Amino acid sequence: MGLLKKVVKKAVRKITQPIRAKAHGAQGERKVNSKLNPLLFGKVEHRQINNLIILDHNGKSHQIDHIEIRENGIFCIETKSYIGLVVGDENSDKWTQCLYSGERYQFLNPVKQNRSHCYHLSKILGPRYIINSLVVMVRNNADKINCPNVINLSDLRGYLSHFDNGAHLSIEEMDCIYNALLSASSGMSNRDHIENIRQTQQELNNNICPRCGGKMVLRQSKTGSTFYGCSNYPKCKFIKKQ
Ligand SMILES: [Zn+2]
Repeated sequence: MGLLKKVVKKAVRKITQPIRAKAHGAQGERKVNSKLNPLLFGKVEHRQINNLIILDHNGKSHQIDHIEIRENGIFCIETKSYIGLVVGDENSDKWTQCLYSGERYQFLNPVKQNRSHCYHLSKILGPRYIINSLVVMVRNNADKINCPNVINLSDLRGYLSHFDNGAHLSIEEMDCIYNALLSASSGMSNRDHIENIRQTQQELNNNICPRCGGKMVLRQSKTGSTFYGCSNYPKCKFIKKQ
């Protein structure tokens, strides 16, 4: 392949990549929906919320793919539909997608992303309920991911059925949780949510604290490392991640 052809191909791929990823994302969420379809569970009583967008106390929006409420627990489900081999673990900041063509892409660790979703959901429900985090790999490529709550879509039904951490929710509790979460919905569209993310990023780029509007300033920790923190500290403890 000529160099020019290669460059053009790469540029086109760069432009189309996020679009393809987005399309795969929507497709993935649909696949999980069908897996969570009540008909597939027979008589299992459950409540399900899809695509819930909530606002935190900083006005930042969070989009949660699925919330499954069952007798044995509440599950906050993040779906990922990356193709190829996906390598990652629980604590790293980024995971790597390795395509069969040899290309590699990094993306934010969805376990951490979903942990923050669970945190915001538990803020709504209070400390009485445990929110179980679950990341579902729609293309069944979770095998190289070293984390117990990252599973293949093919294992989702079995995982949910056998899950046992001692929770026993009554029908009334399930309804109560379902209604509390639904009423916390921001009513934002996916487009508004994406715009909210863009705005937050822009504020960070301009060294404005997205939490309080203060100025982000360079600070030094006790160990000597430097980081950007909000000038309104200790009132605002926002720290910009490097
Ligand atoms: Zn601040």
